[in-house]
Amino acid sequence: MDMIPTWIFMVGAALVGLEMGGFSSIFIQRWIDEQPILKPWRSRCPSCKEPLVWRDTVPVISYLLLKGRCRHCDARIGPQYMLVELSCMAWSLAVAQEFGLSPEWAVYLLLGVMLIAGSFIDFETFLLPDRITLGGTVIALAASFVLREGPAWQDAFIGAVVGAGLFWFLQQGYRLWRGEEGLGTGDVKLMAMIGAMTGLAGLPFTILVSSATGAVGSIIYAIRPGSGGIKGRVPYGPFLSLGCMVYLLYGQDILRWLRS
Ligand SMILES: [Zn+2]
Repeated sequence: MDMIPTWIFMVGAALVGLEMGGFSSIFIQRWIDEQPILKPWRSRCPSCKEPLVWRDTVPVISYLLLKGRCRHCDARIGPQYMLVELSCMAWSLAVAQEFGLSPEWAVYLLLGVMLIAGSFIDFETFLLPDRITLGGTVIALAASFVLREGPAWQDAFIGAVVGAGLFWFLQQGYRLWRGEEGLGTGDVKLMAMIGAMTGLAGLPFTILVSSATGAVGSIIYAIRPGSGGIKGRVPYGPFLSLGCMVYLLYGQDILRWLRS
């Protein structure tokens, strides 16, 4: 860290975050469209299928230069790609600020980008890809053997089992009580990933933050014009992800502050 001036690392972190955001917006789009993730390697316009040249795939910049339209067919390209890229950049900067140039930065950047991609997919489809939830669980468990910050490996395994177990019981209980699906199986798997990232101690905080933000989100969703009212479904995955990411950055500080 002393070898590289902080500002150079921060600029690098922003660029890496943007680029990873670019990859995740391709992943999101192709997963939702049920297309192969890696083929074709080059992005295509979702409307006219024309391959994009590299200068049309620079995160954020291309979107602004082309004013959100395809160069070939003029079809509108939604701002969600830019939102994904900016979210990943913000996450990369926040993790860089908190952990510096370290293995923690790299691992939490990757896991956070996976949570962001999963959240956008969940909003759109109410599904969470196994590649994100189960893949993220494996990465987080493996990282717990290596990283100095974050839970020890025993704690990561217990967190994964307790997180998924708790949500599995909630899911089964809700099904018996209401006779309908309340929590998705994707949320249960997501809780394995989150428990592996935060350890047991991070679960109450994560669930608390996700419930509070999820309640606010549901109200906004319900009063939004043209919505299905209070019955309109809101995915829970994005709020669980948000709670987990806040905990990774500031959870220890907040818990310490509450105890003092
Ligand atoms: Zn086009």
